[in-house]
Amino acid sequence: MTTVQSQAKVSNQLMTGQAYLESLNDGREIWFDGERVNNVVEHPAFRNAARSMARLYDALHDPELQDDLTIVDKFGSRTHRFFTPAYSADDLHGARKAIDIWQRINYGWMGRSPDYKAAFMAQLAEGHFFYDQFADNALNWYKKFSSQGLHLNHVLIDPPVNRAKSRAETRDIYLSLDKSDDKGMYVSGAKMVATGSALTHATFVGITGGVASVMEKNRDEDLALVFIVDMNAPGLKVISRPSYELKANSPFDAPLASRFDENDAVMVFENCFVPWENVLIYRDIDKVKQFQADSGFFNRYNLQAAVRLCIKLEFCIGLMVKGTEASGTNNFRGVQAAIGELIAMRDTIWAMTTAMVSDPEPSIGASVVPRLQTAAACRIYTTNAWTQVRNTFETVLAGAPSFTISSVRDMQVPELSHVIDTYYQGTNLEGRDRVKLFNLVWDALYSEFAGRHGLYERNYAGNKDQQRLVALRWATLRGDVGNYKGLVDQALGDYDTNGWIHEAWR
Ligand SMILES: Cc1cc2nc3c(=O)[nH]c(=O)nc-3n(C[C@H](O)[C@H](O)[C@H](O)COP(=O)(O)OP(=O)(O)OC[C@H]3O[C@@H](n4cnc5c(N)ncnc54)[C@H](O)[C@@H]3O)c2cc1C
Repeated sequence: MTTVQSQAKVSNQLMTGQAYLESLNDGREIWFDGERVNNVVEHPAFRNAARSMARLYDALHDPELQDDLTIVDKFGSRTHRFFTPAYSADDLHGARKAIDIWQRINYGWMGRSPDYKAAFMAQLAEGHFFYDQFADNALNWYKKFSSQGLHLNHVLIDPPVNRAKSRAETRDIYLSLDKSDDKGMYVSGAKMVATGSALTHATFVGITGGVASVMEKNRDEDLALVFIVDMNAPGLKVISRPSYELKANSPFDAPLASRFDENDAVMVFENCFVPWENVLIYRDIDKVKQFQADSGFFNRYNLQAAVRLCIKLEFCIGLMVKGTEASGTNNFRGVQAAIGELIAMRDTIWAMTTAMVSDPEPSIGASVVPRLQTAAACRIYTTNAWTQVRNTFETVLAGAPSFTISSVRDMQVPELSHVIDTYYQGTNLEGRDRVKLFNLVWDALYSEFAGRHGLYERNYAGNKDQQRLVALRWATLRGDVGNYKGLVDQALGDYDTNGWIHEAWR
């Protein structure tokens, strides 16, 4: 199957950056620092992050990038290459290239750019049938999402309240159905944490495989819901965490936090109205147990996340090389070895993405997705990576990033000019440039923004044990574990108490 249609039928409704920014001013209920945010795009806690996202939308219309970034889908709409299913390894290679281009724009520092949830939404083009009576909703959402390039966030996790109680007993906290009528359903409860949600068009509300697996029929139906909710839906509150963008004094002091801070938020639904056209699964325990596994989301989001992490690692390797050059440590053997290890880490992850796009497996309809086992392995490897990166920075660049000034204002004081020029200089680097470089290192590795990134890389894809349990479960279901046991059985069959059975050793 081809995804390319004749140019005559092509429609291009992809948003520009300006259209994206304007679309966010829709009356959504965002709470920040004791106040309801009026227009999120102009609020100092969110302003620059919104503009960083907007740059992605502008890139879709850049004549130099358009061919690599976009494709015409089977319905005749131009869309980002990852916003529509792949039907071949070539399509997946194209999608990886498009993800790569987008991620480079923000140097890999925005994990929840719109291509993240595209991992799920694109597959609705082929997989809408799964949703039975809501299949048309799924297809319509695909068309809306891909043709405009919508930005969706998602919430899957329940607040960590009393786990000794069943879900039915914590109905007042966990998201559940209040009532429904001919227009739609009303839901209440909380979900966490919705990264970047304030800057999205809608939230995909789902349930993790782990939680779904313990749901019981005739008990948990009111919790068995999957739907999409517009960010300005009545009854939806977005409770933001502190903003590192707001705290940033200047680009010079916080060059990353001041423009890439994707605020993580708790979503509170209070009798929130969800029209039927936004519902995908309604009170259906069987469906919520299946929908993640059959959606292709897992296989695809790990591709997006791994490409994104590669760009971030490239950025950090660049920082490390420049930092060691500034400190004059770059020619030491141990320092070079540490940098080599970071490069190998980046190259290993990139090689995993190559395996994911070159060796796909069939998915819903005619689509293909990265192979499950490769995606599961990549998820575990990548979520471990950041701790090692930080450890390397702490030992190799050591205390250099803390040899700095209090803010850019020190640079503007004549009395301190010669102090900075004289005492802050690096190897072949003026004092001002050295401070500028190490401020960037600080924001990447040690600031509050950086600390949140460490937490994100470790946890965004589920808790550590669950990641490994999933790898074991799928390897078991797909027969890999049986094969591994068979290998051992074969070796055990080579000999017994009388000696060799296998003639090769007799
Ligand atoms: C910065 C950041 C951004 C995020 N963004 C999003 C987002 O946009 N959308 C979203 O849905 N989620 C998001 N998450 C949430 C993330 O998915 C969860 O944090 C993650 O799934 C881990 O869940 P948890 O924090 O509840 O940890 P827990 O599940 O509480 O795990 C904590 C520890 O307890 C152990 N444990 C848990 N359950 C059991 C058990 N039954 N038996 C034995 N041990 C157990 C785990 O192995 C782990 O070591 C984000 C998280 C972070 C940190």
